Amino acid sequence: MNVTEVISPTVKCRVHLHVHLDGAVRPSTVWELSRQKKLLLPGNGSLKDLEEALQIRSPRDLAHYLQKFRWITPAIAGDLAAIERIAYEFVEDEARRAVLYTEVRFSPHLLVGPGGQVTARQVTEAVMRGMARGERQFGVTARLLLCCIRGMTENYDDTLDMCTEFRGQVVGIDISGDEASALDVDGSVNAGLLRAEVRTFQEAARRGIHRTVHSGEAGPASMVKLAIDEMKAERIGHGYHVLEDEELYRRCVSTGVHFECCPSSSFLTGAVPLTETRHPMQRFCQDGASFSANVDDPAITRTGLEDEYALLRRMGFNEANIATMNFNAAKACFLPEEEKQDLLQKLRQAYGVPGCD
Ligand SMILES: [Zn+2]
Repeated sequence: MNVTEVISPTVKCRVHLHVHLDGAVRPSTVWELSRQKKLLLPGNGSLKDLEEALQIRSPRDLAHYLQKFRWITPAIAGDLAAIERIAYEFVEDEARRAVLYTEVRFSPHLLVGPGGQVTARQVTEAVMRGMARGERQFGVTARLLLCCIRGMTENYDDTLDMCTEFRGQVVGIDISGDEASALDVDGSVNAGLLRAEVRTFQEAARRGIHRTVHSGEAGPASMVKLAIDEMKAERIGHGYHVLEDEELYRRCVSTGVHFECCPSSSFLTGAVPLTETRHPMQRFCQDGASFSANVDDPAITRTGLEDEYALLRRMGFNEANIATMNFNAAKACFLPEEEKQDLLQKLRQAYGVPGCD
C-alpha cells in the first residue's frame, strides 16, 4: 500500500502552527504545473530529479534552504487556479498527517507573478477558497497567517490591511526572511532598519491582530527580545537562540511565550548545528516552556509531522512530552477564545483525557 495515496483513518490529534504554504506544495504538483508551463526543471526534467533538487541532504544555511523556492514559486505565482489548488491539497495533506487544526502562513505578495499578473488580494482570496473547500472535505480546521518579508517594507501596510479585511479566516500576522538583514556588522540589532517592522506589528497589536515573529532562528537572542518587547509578539517562530540570553529566556518561560519549533528545519538551515550535543527544544521541555513541533516546509524537509515527532523521540522525548506540545500549541493558537476552547475540548477527546490538559 502506498500510504501517501490514502487518507489515514487515524484520530486527528495534532495542532500545527508553523508551516509555510509555498513550502508545503506537493513536489508532484510543482512538477505537473512546471511541465504545463514549460518551465525549467532540474536534472532531466523528471519528478524524481525535482524531488532530489528540492531536498537538502547536508545542512548549510538559511540562504541555501530558501534557494529551493526557486523551483516552487514560478510554478504557482500569478496563477490563481494553481494557488487555490495548492491550498486545497495542503489541507488534504494535513488531514493525512492527523492534524486537527492548522495555521498555515504565506506572503501573498510573493505569489503575484512577474509584473504582478494578479493582486495580493486575489492571491489571498484564492488561498482562502482552496482552504475552505479542503476544510469542508477533510474535516481539518485551517486558518491563515499572512507574512511580511524582512526588507520588503512596501508590502507591510497592505499585509496589515488584508489581515483586518479577511479577519476570521486570517488569524494573525508574521514576518519572515533573513534576520541578518536587520543586524549591524557587529551583530547588534539595527533599530533604524527595523523601524517599519516595529511600527507594523505595533499597529497589528492595536488592531487586535495576533502576532508571531520569525526570530532567534539564525539570528541572536536580541531579535527575540525585539520581537517580544517592541513588536508585541505572542509567539516566536523558532527562537532557538533565545537561550543565549538567560534573563530573556526565563521571562519567556514565565510569561508563556510560545516557541514554534521546527526540528528538521532547525538542522537543515544550520540554525542548530549538528555538532550541538543538545537541541534547544530539550531545554525548553526541561524548563516547562510553551513550545510545539512543526514542519516549516514539508516540500524541502521532506517530512511530515509524525517524522518530526519520530526525530524528537530519538532525542529522548516521550509520548507525554508530545501530547503536552500539542496542548500547548492549541492554547497558543490564534483562534478566537471560544473556538480555542472548542479545539482544546476536541483535543482532550482525541487523547482520551476529558477535563485534563
Ligand atoms: Zn518558518
